[in-house]
Amino acid sequence: MLRQDCDIMKKIAIIGTGLSGAATFINLIERFKKIDIQSNLEVFLIDKRSVDGKGFAYDTEQDCHVLNTLASGSSILKETPNDFIDWLNENHFNKENYYQHPPRNIYGQYISYRLNQYIDLALKFDINVKKIVDDTLNITFDS
Ligand SMILES: Cc1cc2nc3c(=O)[nH]c(=O)nc-3n(C[C@H](O)[C@H](O)[C@H](O)COP(=O)(O)OP(=O)(O)OC[C@H]3O[C@@H](n4cnc5c(N)ncnc54)[C@H](O)[C@@H]3O)c2cc1C
Repeated sequence: MLRQDCDIMKKIAIIGTGLSGAATFINLIERFKKIDIQSNLEVFLIDKRSVDGKGFAYDTEQDCHVLNTLASGSSILKETPNDFIDWLNENHFNKENYYQHPPRNIYGQYISYRLNQYIDLALKFDINVKKIVDDTLNITFDS
């Protein structure tokens, strides 16, 4: 898929843009960053609620709904384990209790931020990203 001589348009659909879908997309773009190639790739990000990376778990408004994992183990970037902590600091969420179990909505904002950042980055690699808000059970694709 990532071969330089590949001139056929490839299409990838990521269904569900909660944590798993966002992580899949972000780490796919990371691979392109590493090998620094341009590719004929189109990625469809599909979610029936919103293409924002939050999914069900991190879309809460309540600050008392906290992560049951430590912030230090919650980076979405495989090779940058401190990424979430760095993001908390950059965004002035540097409260002591946030380093332990931050509110899930803050984590949702982090995932959403990185997802949008990587959608922008994808453009640099000529990767066309299409966001689709629909239930996949309703979608039909042309060949
Ligand atoms: C209330 C709650 C709290 C949690 N807290 C934690 C925690 O603190 N720490 C932790 O590690 N884990 C926690 N979890 C587990 C959490 O579910 C996972 O961490 C992670 O969010 C799962 O991500 P996911 O992408 O697999 O699923 P989700 O985040 O659920 O994302 C699935 C996405 O797919 C979309 N979708 C579903 N069906 C379709 C369809 N037919 N067509 C289009 N889109 C569709 C949904 O709209 C959704 O956005 C929690 C779960 C819940 C429910």
